Amino acid sequence: MSAGGGRTQLDAPVTALPGVGRAGAEKLERLGIETLGDLLLHLPFRYQDRSRSIPINELTAGQECLVTGQIVASNIAYGRRRSLTVAVDDGTGRLTMRFFHFAPRQRNAMRTGVWMRCFGDVRAGPNGLEMAHPEYRLHDDEPPPATGTLTPVYHATAGLATTRIRTCVERALARCEDVHLSRFDDAAFADFADLMAAIRTLHAPPQVDQENIRKARSRVALDELTGHYLVMKQSQALLQAQTTLPLPSHRGLGRTLLDQLGFRLTRAQARVTSEVLNDLAAERPMMRLLQGDVGSGKTVVAAFAAIRAAENGCQTAVMAPTEILAEQHFETLGAWLPPLGIGVCLVTGRQSAVERRARLAAVHEGRDLVVVGTHALFQAGVAFHKLALAVIDEQHRFGVHQRMALRDKGCVPHQLVMTATPIPRTLTMALYADMDISTIDELPPGREPVRTRLVAMPRRAAVIERVGRTCAQGRQAYWVCTLIEDEGGSQSAANVESSGSAERPRQNAAEATFAELSATMPDLRLGLVHGRLSAAEKSAVMAKFKAAEIDVLVATTVIEVGVDVPNATVMVIDNAERLGLAQLHQLRGRVGRGSGRSECILLFEPPLSALAQQRLATLRDTNDGFEVAEKDLALRGPGDILGTRQTGEQAFKVADLAADHALVSKAVALGNRLLAEDQAMARLIVDTWARGEVDYATV
Ligand code: ADP
Ligand code: MG
Repeated sequence: MSAGGGRTQLDAPVTALPGVGRAGAEKLERLGIETLGDLLLHLPFRYQDRSRSIPINELTAGQECLVTGQIVASNIAYGRRRSLTVAVDDGTGRLTMRFFHFAPRQRNAMRTGVWMRCFGDVRAGPNGLEMAHPEYRLHDDEPPPATGTLTPVYHATAGLATTRIRTCVERALARCEDVHLSRFDDAAFADFADLMAAIRTLHAPPQVDQENIRKARSRVALDELTGHYLVMKQSQALLQAQTTLPLPSHRGLGRTLLDQLGFRLTRAQARVTSEVLNDLAAERPMMRLLQGDVGSGKTVVAAFAAIRAAENGCQTAVMAPTEILAEQHFETLGAWLPPLGIGVCLVTGRQSAVERRARLAAVHEGRDLVVVGTHALFQAGVAFHKLALAVIDEQHRFGVHQRMALRDKGCVPHQLVMTATPIPRTLTMALYADMDISTIDELPPGREPVRTRLVAMPRRAAVIERVGRTCAQGRQAYWVCTLIEDEGGSQSAANVESSGSAERPRQNAAEATFAELSATMPDLRLGLVHGRLSAAEKSAVMAKFKAAEIDVLVATTVIEVGVDVPNATVMVIDNAERLGLAQLHQLRGRVGRGSGRSECILLFEPPLSALAQQRLATLRDTNDGFEVAEKDLALRGPGDILGTRQTGEQAFKVADLAADHALVSKAVALGNRLLAEDQAMARLIVDTWARGEVDYATV
């Protein structure tokens, strides 16, 4: 296979480049760059245009550009700091160049009449527009029109400027002259059949042609998406080649739970449950993603799976992202399973060491067959008796690369990943290509859709009254505040409240709101939860709310996931304009969980930005999580949807799932074709993007 000639060049360490020693290599490593290949894939995030001079009368502040003119004045200005100012005139207007540091020689060279070509940022100065410390060159006569092309700008790091990276990349490109990477003959990328051609164009655009650059970037993104898809397919193949404990149908304990539940499964729940149970009966490990909107009833599906494992004498680990959620799962499963003779235990970080050791011993000896805990806890390592199933709730909180992390005695358990974040179908294909997918696309009966209203802050008093009326009828309410305190702690809630400044954005700290509501609704019992409470304090408050000993729960977004209190029928979200669509939808899912009409009130501070307006209107107009997800993807991008941005995890180097949405299905088709027809090319692409992550040879 000719493709991939010279690939080994790319694996050479950066120290192979002239001028890069150990210190330089260490700095590059901070950017994730270890090899020449990494360097080449460190693409510029923008370009400087030095290809033409911009007329001074067309400049605007904030612009970065080239200006050419003649020096008409040169002065030392004594302001707060001494500076040299040089006025340049290009016939259309004058621009001031300002230098705070300058040598006498420099100053003497900048004489009236000399031509000056400058590149820098235009900003507003005390006397009109100026450039501070531009890069410049002096000419005795008028210089010829600028030539040159776009100069790449790279993400840099301390001690490693973008110019230095530029030099390294240039040298790496020179060394990799003979390297060829993947080759797609696709009309859409005419000039970039070879990936290396696209990479070269991005680092050193031959001409100023934004469209060409965009095409090159798409070509690289397509390669990366295809690589990701191929890796997923490989890990799926690896998994399918393994065996695990098959969990065949046994004693019919599931039927007993069904009879005792007090509700009937929705058709979607029944379908999904049988998909899961079918998988479990097989020898190859299940790898299934269970998608279902908040409140769609995923927990009971997990319960049936755990029962199946228990019937076979095997253990189930249930992992939750937070302590509150772990406790809730423990409570639910702890009510359903022990009557069937299945022991359930909770292991949390806040139990005393003695208590935890006792629980872990029970797990180790196999006395408890279902173990609920936080993800962190399982990562610390739990010794199981016979683990056959892992249920992982709210996957997006964990990131996407830990699916196979849990093993017991070298054996991969069956895995059921549950997510309440509806993922648009196109993304599912690319991101979860290694999983089978089950979707609960129906809510339990009797649930009326939550009615969502947008209310502007000036009508806050009416909202408080509404909450009061609801609670007077024996219902409960959530009041969610988007901030607890200013991060620096500089503006405590009290300060903001007492400042009374109308201009200042209201920072409705949960504590201030708690005080406000306590004062206006003295008859109601209020609770407060926020992230700074200890886990024990938090769950004490939650328990009271669940037991209806609290009417209004004032909370920060810590209650976001999974909390289940059916009697709560009103949710107020303060400053809803601050939150993203996915998060708002998650929050709203806390109400509408029982029978009876629920309401979600989105309190916002006018005026709304166009984007915020679209977000809030989307929520008002639909309760469908998938619709919300599609809209969210269009408005914000999938990093937010999948939570990767929050967790700081970046799945892709180049591809941007929002911008490159259309490329996803192309990558899937291409990946499938390569798997069938051109394994060598498939391997080359995987090597480009995931060198060392998977062992292709073993598949
Ligand atoms: P989620 O999918 O958000 O995790 P849960 O599993 O917490 O949803 O279920 C939400 C609520 O709906 C729980 O109180 C649960 O007992 C209840 N529930 C689940 N399935 C049904 C059903 N088929 N009929 C009625 N209520 C149900
Ligand atoms: Mg749940």
